[in-house]
Amino acid sequence: MDKTTSSPWAISVAQLAQHAGQSKAIDIDFPAPSGIGDDIVGVREGDLIHMQANIDSIVDGLILNAHVSAPMHAVCTRCLKPLSNSKELDIVAFYPYDMKEIDESEGDLEIVAGEDEADDGNTYPLAAGGTVLDVETLLRDNLVESIPLKVLCKPDCKGLCSQCGVNLNENPDHHHDTSDDRWAILEDLKAQLEHKEETTK
Ligand SMILES: [Zn+2]
Ligand SMILES: [Zn+2]
Repeated sequence: MDKTTSSPWAISVAQLAQHAGQSKAIDIDFPAPSGIGDDIVGVREGDLIHMQANIDSIVDGLILNAHVSAPMHAVCTRCLKPLSNSKELDIVAFYPYDMKEIDESEGDLEIVAGEDEADDGNTYPLAAGGTVLDVETLLRDNLVESIPLKVLCKPDCKGLCSQCGVNLNENPDHHHDTSDDRWAILEDLKAQLEHKEETTK
């Protein structure tokens, strides 16, 4: 169907290109590109990303309006429990017919192009003489940006015991008897100091 070139992320737009006012709806599964996150949190390369989108041609390019659903894996920052859920993203991107024009109009801003692109939305070049819209970079950029810095299995995750590593969510009554470890010494010391304070008053 839409995959007319060797890239698994290519969408043929030959019928749309250069004809303002045309529109095309797509509903495709794409393999996740490499480089989205890591073992801790991210999208595994090759996992299927579902995209429902409309591509509309305007005078100087194509506008992609996409809803993306990607299987994201993560581990809880506090208790290390493996988690998986679906990352839902709405993406709007512009694929100009003449990328050069865009680059030139940005002039000396080009040095910060990476950051700039994130600010003014997504702009990507069309491939194969304007007949192919490739979403590999678009998927990677947008998913990488959406990766959370911190993931919790639940907002009040109790995490792991700092002394022995037991999961405190599963063992709510877990505690260490302080009389038989190093904390006891500190407890004693604290008690002595407190006592001293009391008596010196
Ligand atoms: Zn957790
Ligand atoms: Zn413990």
